[in-house]
Amino acid sequence: MKKIITRFAPSPTGFLHIGGVRTALFSWAYAKKNNGNFILRVEDTDLERSTPEAIEAIKKGLQWLGIDNDGPIVYQTERYDRYKEIIMQLLDEEKAYYCYASKDELDALRIKQKDSGQKPKYDNRWRPQNGKDLPNPPDGINPVVRFKNPLSGSVTWNDKVKKEITISNNELDDFIIARSDGSPTYNFCVVVDDMDMNISHVIRGDDHVNNTPRQINLFEALNAQIPTYAHLSMILGSDGQKLSKRHGAVSVMEYKENGFLPEALKNYLARLGWSHGDDEIFSMHEFCSLFDFNNIISSAAQFDEEKLNWLNNHYIKEMNIDELASHIEVGDSIDQDIFQKAIALYRDRAKSLNEISQNIKFFFEIPYIPQDLIDKYINKDTMKLVDALIAMLSKEAWDDDTVNLCVKKFVKDKEIKFPIIAMPLRVILAGTDHTPSIGSIMSILGNNEVNKRLQHFKKNHDL
Ligand code: GLU
Repeated sequence: MKKIITRFAPSPTGFLHIGGVRTALFSWAYAKKNNGNFILRVEDTDLERSTPEAIEAIKKGLQWLGIDNDGPIVYQTERYDRYKEIIMQLLDEEKAYYCYASKDELDALRIKQKDSGQKPKYDNRWRPQNGKDLPNPPDGINPVVRFKNPLSGSVTWNDKVKKEITISNNELDDFIIARSDGSPTYNFCVVVDDMDMNISHVIRGDDHVNNTPRQINLFEALNAQIPTYAHLSMILGSDGQKLSKRHGAVSVMEYKENGFLPEALKNYLARLGWSHGDDEIFSMHEFCSLFDFNNIISSAAQFDEEKLNWLNNHYIKEMNIDELASHIEVGDSIDQDIFQKAIALYRDRAKSLNEISQNIKFFFEIPYIPQDLIDKYINKDTMKLVDALIAMLSKEAWDDDTVNLCVKKFVKDKEIKFPIIAMPLRVILAGTDHTPSIGSIMSILGNNEVNKRLQHFKKNHDL
């Protein structure tokens, strides 16, 4: 059987976005499933729009996600000699030709075609044909090289996602493969690379469907094996519009900065346009072994922030505490025991790592307390209750179970509702009225720190 070789071929003209990562993930998974190779090819021939920062962003993003390429990264700008060689070969074999039409001429042609209701298309004026006299090449014009697209017939391919697609050669024109400065064009380089790299499966966004028949004709002209194509539908925002900045983060590294785990993002993207029954949680090992073109959904996928948050929470809960702690930053020289206990307490509800760091900050510094919370929950009577509870606790061990039991008993004995004591404590100790179990928070802070915060509060507020 032919070795499965896939590739991710980004143009480094901006950040690595979610759609690109999903393409890379599916290509990578298909290669892994089949013990094949996954190639990263940077399509950097557009010198004006490609930037070193964008190349870095692609490398960093894929590295963060663990979508590793096999073999070295290929840069198209390092392959110019090879492209030249193939251009010469096609010219020699009369499968390509020089075209001297100037920009003005082509503009005039386009306007004429449009005015007469035709689709703009190169009219083959420089295409050598039997019995046709070509004009003499004008002086001082560097010609482009055009590919001789077949004049009749059609191109059909069985797309793994979109099913059979047929495009008539009438629809296609003799596209440019080398510009007048000799530089090769996108559609040409892709084919030479896919041929040289023995790419068996091209998995890419469906914005490339229109390029595919041109590329297939070129493969045929080169007597090369045509890869299998799978064109993935685009990703839309939750409102059904094209995914953009206004839907939240778009660059993959923004997800890292916002506290998402790579496992969660990968799992989320795996399910975005692909399914395995109703299953939602997949390790990458499972995803790679189950991945299959039949289960790719051909309609556009909609980005669902809530689901990504849910998955991130799932992976945060799954992770062992040491590893989780290594992803969370709250400051230097903090008590590691408190740090780990605080993370353990907060992680169950956390949608992101940043949410955990934000929420546990108060364990390491006296919190700012908003006045409206004081007005809402604290008065002289509640302060008396707080003092009574702390006095009762002073005789107890400050472990989680004991403190929680004592708070419960206190509430029962005093015949008060739980929030009457819990809310003032939350506000004084954590600066918020939203925390997990107040008993657990007190036990993590410890007797001394709780007393210190109480005294500090009393000193600054006349209650
Ligand atoms: N460089 C192209 C892009 O970034 C992809 C080419 C391909 O996958 O064939 O859209």
